[in-house]
Amino acid sequence: MIGMAGFLGDKQTTLVHHLANMKKECKIVEMKLQDRQYFTPDTLENAKSMNFSSCMWCIGN
Ligand SMILES: [Zn+2]
Repeated sequence: MIGMAGFLGDKQTTLVHHLANMKKECKIVEMKLQDRQYFTPDTLENAKSMNFSSCMWCIGN
């Protein structure tokens, strides 16, 4: 389902989530398939470089 990815971006909210630390508040299960952005390389730095912001629930600032 989510696979082995470390980070998942939500194109709707432009938030990036750390899947290993996800909380129910992240609403990952409610994220539409077409809104799911995976990253290559699969790093927070790369996600931020693509204008995603850290989710406060699973990453913080
Ligand atoms: Zn999150």
